[in-house]
Amino acid sequence: MQDDRYEALTPETLPDRLGGLDALISRVGSAAGWQVQEVGDGNLNLVFIVRGQGAAVIVKQALPYVRLVGDSWPLPLTRAFFEHEALVRQAARDPGRVPEVLHFDKAQALIVMEFLSPHTILRGKLIAGERVEGLAEAMGRFCARTAFRGSDLSMEAGEKKADAALFLDNVALCDITEQLIFTDPYCEAERNHHTPELAPIVASLRADEAVRDAAQAMLMRFTAGAETLCHGDLHTGSIMCTDTETRVIDPEFGFYGPMGFDLGMLLANFLMAFFSQPAHRDEPGEMQDWLLSVVTETCAAFEAEFARLWAEERAGILYPARLGHGDAALRGLMAHIWNDALGFCGCEMHRRCLSLAHNADFETISDTGLRARLEARNIEMGRQLLVARGQVPDASALAELAREHD
Ligand code: ADP
Ligand code: MG
Ligand code: MG
Ligand code: MG
Repeated sequence: MQDDRYEALTPETLPDRLGGLDALISRVGSAAGWQVQEVGDGNLNLVFIVRGQGAAVIVKQALPYVRLVGDSWPLPLTRAFFEHEALVRQAARDPGRVPEVLHFDKAQALIVMEFLSPHTILRGKLIAGERVEGLAEAMGRFCARTAFRGSDLSMEAGEKKADAALFLDNVALCDITEQLIFTDPYCEAERNHHTPELAPIVASLRADEAVRDAAQAMLMRFTAGAETLCHGDLHTGSIMCTDTETRVIDPEFGFYGPMGFDLGMLLANFLMAFFSQPAHRDEPGEMQDWLLSVVTETCAAFEAEFARLWAEERAGILYPARLGHGDAALRGLMAHIWNDALGFCGCEMHRRCLSLAHNADFETISDTGLRARLEARNIEMGRQLLVARGQVPDASALAELAREHD
């Protein structure tokens, strides 16, 4: 690129502008034969598939505003920088789980990365009733490895502090989470919307001071609990799968936060897939059983991997070997992570029905009466997770709670 000034790519300008990059030519072939397709279905960025004689690649470019809303809502291009930094760390901490980065251009806010194919977005698969072998194992391990290896349990103290300082600058993306997940759902905010038939339930939730307080306590954990580098946006739209392989994309919301944050968000999205199933098929039972097995097995994989890392890789300032901590310390730490995960899970279940960005699991249900009934179960369970999560000791209790609300 001759000029370093940022300019958004189009399918027409992309071959001219990126056609000189070795990272692309060596994979895709010469730019003369490129076919470019814009496929971004997310809320924020441009995503292009570049195809040629060789392998295809993805070019993801940030826009200076929120794509979902338009240029009335500016958003800094630096999110591409944080996405790139997070991808590099995740690749080191859980090798093979995120797309390989082929090229990064800070000024153009663009990342060239491996094209995942024939992977598709997990959310769509779950709505279609498709299962993914190994999903729970892969995701539980991803959450455990990134949580542990980015924390003071593992990192050298100076390195961890420098990294936390770097990511502290991801202010605008954290602001989205702070507003849309922890705040807007619990009041009447301009960007909110909900299924009309939900009005009485929404009113009762917003009148419940205990819920509001619990959500603010979770927000304080989010802003002040800088335990590890979190993915920050780990929903089923940030996971791409084949029938047997699971990959994680889109960590532009990366921030230093609680070790239970990503796990809690992920569990919420599995639970919303569970609650919405009756609208997507006549006999939802088997898929629902499978989704709850994904919930429990994800937690089991998380715990097993975390315990393994605790035993084998504890090299940071926390719980040093010379203090001789045993199983009780690990159990205490796991209980702390679980408590956070449940609270974040509750907030995520609420915001997807009440705040700005909803999810296709519920949004594609055209019968609004039915949609409201299913969303109501989800909202009620989220409320319990916020105010009474002490009564949910483990993943089986969480799955049981989902069954009671279904
Ligand atoms: P946003 O940040 O705007 O949400 P995403 O990173 O989630 O953008 O990408 C949007 C869409 O582009 C994804 O839902 C997926 O369909 C596609 N996509 C993104 N990255 C890849 C990839 N590495 N391989 C294949 N498809 C991808
Ligand atoms: Mg996305
Ligand atoms: Mg994104
Ligand atoms: Mg909705």
